[in-house]
Amino acid sequence: MGFDVDAFVSTVGEELRCELCRGVLDNPLRTACSHVFCSGCILPWVVSTGRCPRGCQRLTPEDLGNELELRDCILNLSVHCEYKDRGCKMLVRLREMGVHRADCDHRPVPCKNDGCKLVLSSREMEKHVTGDCPYKEVGVCPKGCSLVLLQSTVGSHDCVSALRAYIAGQENRINTMETELQRAGMMASKRERELVNQITLLQNENQLQSLEFQRKLSEISTKLKKSSNKCADVSTNTDDAVWRALTVTLQRQGGALGFNIMGGFTPEPNNNETAKRGEMAGGVEVSRVTENSPAEKNGLKIHDIITQWRVKRWGQVETIDPPGSRLHTDIQTQGPRSKASKVPH
Ligand SMILES: [Zn+2]
Ligand SMILES: [Zn+2]
Ligand SMILES: [Zn+2]
Ligand SMILES: [Zn+2]
Ligand SMILES: [Zn+2]
Repeated sequence: MGFDVDAFVSTVGEELRCELCRGVLDNPLRTACSHVFCSGCILPWVVSTGRCPRGCQRLTPEDLGNELELRDCILNLSVHCEYKDRGCKMLVRLREMGVHRADCDHRPVPCKNDGCKLVLSSREMEKHVTGDCPYKEVGVCPKGCSLVLLQSTVGSHDCVSALRAYIAGQENRINTMETELQRAGMMASKRERELVNQITLLQNENQLQSLEFQRKLSEISTKLKKSSNKCADVSTNTDDAVWRALTVTLQRQGGALGFNIMGGFTPEPNNNETAKRGEMAGGVEVSRVTENSPAEKNGLKIHDIITQWRVKRWGQVETIDPPGSRLHTDIQTQGPRSKASKVPH
């Protein structure tokens, strides 16, 4: 919005006025089509219509340019004090109006005495406040009620009725305060209830979580127990819980290798494809080891699992271990004795 044209001391020419608000240009902006408007008038216009107010062309805010010289020129024009109607006769440059307004003797100010609603020019107020304001305090009652007397009531002051009025006023204040206190208390207790609810919720959540953790913990410890029991079972059967690979090469002695097996299949090389490859699905378990036999001398023990075998130096092809052949086996064993490197090949 532009400045009030009537505030200017001299007549303001059309070229300094805004066509939108008809005021004197405030912070003028020039359009691409060379028309000038207040920034506060043209910006919202262009944003909402996208055109020059004169209808000459399409515009965006980027098509508006500052008119700094024009602005300076307007700010240097003389204006009447804003409180001219209250009696100020000052003429100031527009750019200084703000400073003068804050300091003008004619600016309206409210009386600062408690209860007085009067508004006066600042230069009159001092006199009023300290002089004839009916709400001016004139000291403590000399008759003994200790009330502070106001200028307007000092003549008609009666201690009893003044005290009654004072007490009524205080009671009023107390009532108001109590009401406010209750309201605040209600707000506080509402907030407290909310907080307690939140805490309860959190506690419940925590309990649920800890129950869940306990459940998981017991699940895990059960699993651990089971697996350690398994280990223990195995350990009772053998020296150690760990299976180790062992390769031994057995040389027939007196026509025998000295061990019996169970499970798996009986290794007959020409029987099927698996046998040819020397694989035994799942392996076979050593069920007996003869004393002083090649098997025992090579460390074979009951419960060893033979997973692979092959016959070296075939004598006759019909049998798996013809006399003079060496049975080469991979044995899965349990226990500390599985020192594969010591095993003869
Ligand atoms: Zn304007
Ligand atoms: Zn235009
Ligand atoms: Zn003034
Ligand atoms: Zn007053
Ligand atoms: Zn009194």
